[in-house]
Amino acid sequence: MAKRSPSPWQSVRRQWRRLRRIGRSGAARVVYHPRYSSAPTLLPTIDTQRARNILGFLVAEKLIRRGEVLRPRRVRMDRLRRVHTESYLDSLTRREALTAIYGVAITGARRDELITVHRSMAGGTLLAAREALENGDIVLNLGGGFHHAHPDRGAGFCLFNDVALAVDLLRERGLKGNILVVDLDLHDGDGTRAFFADDPSVHTFSIHNHDLDDTRAQGSTSIALGDHVDEDTFLAALEESLPPLLEELRPSFVFYIAGCDSAHDDRLGNWRLSAAAMLARDRRVIEGVRGLDPRLPLVILLGGGYGPGTWRYTARMASWLLSGGETVEPAGVSVATLAHYRRLTRFLGQGRKGRKPKSGALDWSLSEDDLPGHVQPRPHLLLGRYSLYQIELAVDRFGLLNALRQRGFTRLRLDFDLTNPTGQTVRLLEGDDQEVLVELRLNTDVHTLAEATLLRIEWLLIQNPRVSFDSRHPPLPGQQHPGLGLLRDIVSLLVLACQDLQLDGIVFTPAHYHIAVQTERIFHFLDPEAEALFLDLQELLGGRPLPEATRLVEEGRVRWAESGEPFQWDPQPMVLPIGLRLRGRWRREKKDYENAVRAARRPGRFVLG
Ligand SMILES: [Zn+2]
Repeated sequence: MAKRSPSPWQSVRRQWRRLRRIGRSGAARVVYHPRYSSAPTLLPTIDTQRARNILGFLVAEKLIRRGEVLRPRRVRMDRLRRVHTESYLDSLTRREALTAIYGVAITGARRDELITVHRSMAGGTLLAAREALENGDIVLNLGGGFHHAHPDRGAGFCLFNDVALAVDLLRERGLKGNILVVDLDLHDGDGTRAFFADDPSVHTFSIHNHDLDDTRAQGSTSIALGDHVDEDTFLAALEESLPPLLEELRPSFVFYIAGCDSAHDDRLGNWRLSAAAMLARDRRVIEGVRGLDPRLPLVILLGGGYGPGTWRYTARMASWLLSGGETVEPAGVSVATLAHYRRLTRFLGQGRKGRKPKSGALDWSLSEDDLPGHVQPRPHLLLGRYSLYQIELAVDRFGLLNALRQRGFTRLRLDFDLTNPTGQTVRLLEGDDQEVLVELRLNTDVHTLAEATLLRIEWLLIQNPRVSFDSRHPPLPGQQHPGLGLLRDIVSLLVLACQDLQLDGIVFTPAHYHIAVQTERIFHFLDPEAEALFLDLQELLGGRPLPEATRLVEEGRVRWAESGEPFQWDPQPMVLPIGLRLRGRWRREKKDYENAVRAARRPGRFVLG
């Protein structure tokens, strides 16, 4: 079908809308991340491009300006742990759990991708809630509404209950009063109801086809209308139940899950709601909430909706919301074209030069990875075992992320690079500038020690990029920034990983004298000669502060006594035996090793000069 070019009249209307919007204060905004549209395609009924299509339409129709689109971060692991049970979060490291929630096998890299998409969308609901609370706005998250997620289990395509997570945030920020969750997805909001079963201050209101359980909460309205419901029946039920509840409850915050699986053309649903009825539904909720108080914070979430036309219902509602009362029909917009993506890319990417974007505002452009169909097989598990999610969960439980947050690093993110030819790399990054706090590169090593498989630390950087050295705290060789005091924690995590992977031990090669000093209490040099040499060096330098001692070595001021030549640090491998086999071997060979070290000692071989 040939693409229609807009008539002059259409262009004038768009310009008029744009001008009208400029005159209005930002009363409604949208939350979106390109990741929303990058979820792996798992089921033909789920349209992964739904969010992008809605935003593309709003951009094309000039219904939204750049400053009105907010970019979320993925929800933090510690908040997930406050709201969901530890055993549930653990279960998500296993393939079967995700497969049960989605009903199709989810394997390989798609597990991490899927969890990340869900964390981003839940993060979107948190951002929307924060913005709505601060500004009394209506904020539409182009994702979320995962109402089947319970505290201890996921279900029906829902991993994390974003509304429960957002309520946790709102209460943390001091929001008092009642919170209302209006859930008009076709399906029962059973997960959200379970979360607040004992909390009368959160009222869950759900009109749906069938009850999914018989849990009744202290504050809940649950209306099951059955199958094949027509629009008059539905709208009458809504009219009868919602306005009196709003009056009675007088909420201080409202979530609206505007699921579109109740529409007549939905691929999974069997209700018969027309496009006009869907819009009437949305308007009834929004006008009801804002009629109570024009500054009452309202967060709107997508919820369910299956099939290629689903996005249009939300687009229509968003056009009405953003234009201030005019509905724009989305049917004519050609969305699935590269030209569309380019326009969206331009829109999202045009940051004002030289100025840092406002927190939460979009400051990125789409990359090739964001385009559908860009799938390359690549390793997805660290050391063939650990997903990114799993590592973050372990590191958070270890208290490491919290310790860093208390030191002001509040936007931490873990990242993988498993295709680096010099070793699989994990990074802990902070903020938009992606400051590197920790960089760890690992390999397995079968060559260093006969009949042993070791975990080799190729590279370990631990630094506080926000602190500089001064004359009283000079840098150690190889350092750009002071450390973070996390070496012991990270080595402890690696020991656990070694045990879990049934590896024999850890090996690394200290690039500088001071690193050998810092690790000698747990690691020893593999070669007794190297150990003896190191002990001789320590005997010469041991009385001095470590920064001074290591600088003397680095600057060539330690000399061989015999020749007078400067000594050069020659990195040799150090080992920590962990597995039973290697520990037993080390115990048996320790006497011989110590004798060999003693025999190789030459205490006077170094002099300072
Ligand atoms: Zn649904």
